Amino acid sequence: MQKTWLLRPSPGKSAATLAFSLCLLTGCFEEENKTQSKNQESTTAQVVETVSGIEVPTVPENPLEQSDWTADFLEPGKVVEVPEITLPAEAAGKEPAPIEEVTTVTWCLPVKSQNAVMTRGYMVVNWTDYPKTGHHPGVDYDVPGDEDVQLQFCGNGDVVDRGEFSNIKRYPLAKWLGNYFFLYVPSIDRTFLYAHLRDAPPALGQANAGDPCGIAGKTGTANGVHLHFECWKGRRTANTRDVSLLENLIRLTEDPACVLAHYLSGKTNEPPCSWQEPEAPQPFGTSRTVGTSSLLDALHHENP
Ligand SMILES: [Zn+2]
Repeated sequence: MQKTWLLRPSPGKSAATLAFSLCLLTGCFEEENKTQSKNQESTTAQVVETVSGIEVPTVPENPLEQSDWTADFLEPGKVVEVPEITLPAEAAGKEPAPIEEVTTVTWCLPVKSQNAVMTRGYMVVNWTDYPKTGHHPGVDYDVPGDEDVQLQFCGNGDVVDRGEFSNIKRYPLAKWLGNYFFLYVPSIDRTFLYAHLRDAPPALGQANAGDPCGIAGKTGTANGVHLHFECWKGRRTANTRDVSLLENLIRLTEDPACVLAHYLSGKTNEPPCSWQEPEAPQPFGTSRTVGTSSLLDALHHENP
């Protein structure tokens, strides 16, 4: 398609028209227009004089290719044919290269396997293994038949604490957690704990979602190879992970599987993953007005 620019002479407006036309062609509209309005009065007379004195040369075949073409052949009232601009790829008969989509991994499951299963859920009651709180503070993942289960950082953040099973003196928590590390994810202000790793945990510092961070193991107090995985509110380390009271677990931990499922599905609001004690069934009749109809309702409701 050919675009046509028609420049009409108009006393006192020639400079503005010329500047405006140039701007449309160069994409510098805002800046040039400001300049023009500032200097309009002083330059109008000069430009009118210059334009009216120009000899009209032959219009070049492709005006865009001629340097300083405006001064050579533009004059008020002259019609200028502007050729369609062709991109190099199009000129060569090729489809323009598609713009590459840059995707950043934000969330991953902690176990890199399609076959991972949860072998113990969040807050499952177990007074034998957890004599203080009676509840499992995280989830356990296992890959049946695989002794070489790759682990990966579940989110973007920092390894803020770590402990080695080979040095329990220095890392007392390693007696239970084995090789462990705490991954703090600032975007959601949560800390994920990985425990029982086979080998020494990753170094402190930056962690990118999806990067490998070890192999599942059974170091510490564990019956078999698995990943014990916790989610704490805020930035936690070995010193601030307090599992001495059930109240702490209720207030400060969340179901890590639920949290990850929430963010993996692209949601940005607070995940509804906090544990709440299941409501005890109400004794028959206690919360209802005594009367024939309400008693029937209660019967239908509580004994479906
Ligand atoms: Zn566990």
